[in-house]
Amino acid sequence: MEAVRTIELNKRQELILQIVKDNGPITGEQIAEKLSLTRATLRPDLAILTMAGYLDARPRVGYFYTGKSGTQLLAERIMKITVQQYQSIPVVVKDSSSVYDAICTMFLEDVGTLFVVDQASALVGVLSRKDLLRASIGKQMLETIPVSIIMTRMPNITFCFKEDLIIDVAKKLIEKQIDALPVVKSGEGLKYEVVGRITKTNITKAIVDLANDELL
Ligand code: ADP
Repeated sequence: MEAVRTIELNKRQELILQIVKDNGPITGEQIAEKLSLTRATLRPDLAILTMAGYLDARPRVGYFYTGKSGTQLLAERIMKITVQQYQSIPVVVKDSSSVYDAICTMFLEDVGTLFVVDQASALVGVLSRKDLLRASIGKQMLETIPVSIIMTRMPNITFCFKEDLIIDVAKKLIEKQIDALPVVKSGEGLKYEVVGRITKTNITKAIVDLANDELL
């Protein structure tokens, strides 16, 4: 079975790849000769094949096949995408806010997950849509119940740092069956400051960029 390729190669590029596989190391001049084309005509194709990782070029040696399959190259690219490239701005509420205010914030800011912070702006909780729906079912006074009563709280919050890999965040989202992670940085003591938000939507965007060869 043909492996998944990171980019779609045209007929001529496939041909070049085959020539290098069979004859490498081989110079651009020699490849051009085999195809009865000029070196200049081949230059863009060789550049694409080299940039995509299929071929490598050494001065005075020529082009050689890296031996990496499309799947390997794709995996290598995925393993380089970090949280900071795709994170969104976090939406936070204070732990003293009412459930009613949190619901309003969720609608106004158009997000599915809110992060809860204390007086010192440290992360203390997470509120999902279902947390707020659940609290709204009973005959409770939504204007007076603070979100701290219903939120998922530390130390049970799954979070990440901006240097983390998107693929590791994706694994955490699946494993914990949640929609979003707060992106944090270490604050005073053992506290964390919220600096971003990473959601299933951000990860979907990374996949689309990867497919379009437009990684940030
Ligand atoms: P929803 O409840 O709207 O389907 P989630 O699947 O994200 O949204 O949330 C499920 C539960 O997990 C909720 O109770 C929520 O508080 C909690 N939760 C959401 N995100 C996190 C997180 N990053 N860390 C820990 N718990 C979380």
